[in-house]
Order: sequence, then C-alpha cells, then structure tokens
Amino acid sequence: MAALLIMVVCLLGSGAAAAGQFQECRVAIDIGHSLRDPGAISARGVPEYRFNRHMARLLLARLQQDPQFRGSFLVNETGEAVPLASRPAIAAARGAAIFLSIHHDSVYPEQLSKWVYQGRLLDVCDLFSGHSIFFSGKNGNPEASLRLARGIGRAMRQAGLRPTLHHAGRGNKVLLDRELGIYAFDNLAVLKNADMPAVLFECGVIKNSQEEVKLCDPSYQQRLVEALYTALKEYCTGKRPAF
Ligand SMILES: [Zn+2]
Repeated sequence: MAALLIMVVCLLGSGAAAAGQFQECRVAIDIGHSLRDPGAISARGVPEYRFNRHMARLLLARLQQDPQFRGSFLVNETGEAVPLASRPAIAAARGAAIFLSIHHDSVYPEQLSKWVYQGRLLDVCDLFSGHSIFFSGKNGNPEASLRLARGIGRAMRQAGLRPTLHHAGRGNKVLLDRELGIYAFDNLAVLKNADMPAVLFECGVIKNSQEEVKLCDPSYQQRLVEALYTALKEYCTGKRPAF
C-alpha cells in the first residue's frame, strides 16, 4: 500500500513538473494602422492595413498551435482608428508579455517612380526589398526589446531572408545592425509607450512591385511566420524550438 502511494505521488509529481515546463508567453500582435488610415499603398494600389491584418492572423494561428502562446491575441482586428499610444495599454490590459507590431514597408518620396497597373497610374519603387526590425530605446524594457529584435533578425537570416537598409540615417532612425536589419527608433509611439518588450516588424516593401508579389504568396508568408514563431519561441524559452 505504502509502495503504491509513493508511486502515485511520484506520478503526480512528474505530471506537475511536465505541466510546468513552460510559462505562458502571451503575444499581443498589433495590426499596424487602421481601415481609415491604412498606411502605405502597395505598388498595385492595395492598402497596407490589409497586408498587416492577413499576416497578423497567420502569425496568431501559428502561435496558437503552441500551448505556450495559446493566450496570444490581435490588437485592432476590427480596423478602428486606435491611437498608437494606446495600443500597448490594450496589450497590457490583456496580460501580454510581448508586443509585436506588424507592418509592411514603403520608401521615401524621392525614391518613387510611376507605373501603370491595370489602367491606374501608381507609385512604385523596385530599388529596395526585404524586412526591417525596429525597437525603441525609450520603452519600458529596451534591453529585452533589443534581444527580441536580434532574435527575429537571426531567425530571418536563418530562413534565408535579407533585410532592407533604406531606412538607415533617415529621420530619427539609426541602423544598429546591418546584417540583421535592426533600427533604433526611439520615438516610435507604438513602441515607446509599451512597458513590455516591444518590436515593430516590417514584413517587406510593398512599394516594390516584385516584392509585393512575394508578400502575397502563401509559401513566402509562411516562411516569415515560421521565422517569427521561431524567434518568439526562442525568446520565451531561451532556446530554439525543436521541429
Ligand atoms: Zn506601417
């Protein structure tokens, strides 16, 4: 009887240890911009918000396959004009451990040229392509934000993706790491108002007519999502996920 009891206690103990192997890591995935103020317009005339919402939903679906991330959620799925500064507060109120803002990139006005697509005269720029990663040195946890940014940069490189460097020295953006495509952008409202680690990820340049096609390709989208998941998993567990 005593032996049986000990065995039961041991089994319960090992179960508890197994259940405690991960700590919940809730990610707030912020959909950049809104329906009314949709951000950049792609080379083919599609508003950035739509790209952001699609990628954010894909990332959420990927994260929710992992019990550690099951509590993750979207910020601004309805596309309302939520002020940038209040988005981190929404994330904090729902217990987010990480704030990740999803965007698609543009270029600077003098870099644009014109092309005609389906009878419409539109802006285009095929000079730059690739993702970029922003963090704010003024947010509540800049060291952790930079660590997460580096993890995302490494995961992108390991997925064979190269960053764009066209933001270097523009405005208050400082290129910190050209290999990983990481910029410090201290006054970015959506990041500096966050108390938790916060990163803004630009998936790619939608003003680039060729990159726009890639960014609409489900296999390319999945590559980006998988790299983001890998980086988030590594950040939350301290090690790379096993596949
Ligand atoms: Zn944007």
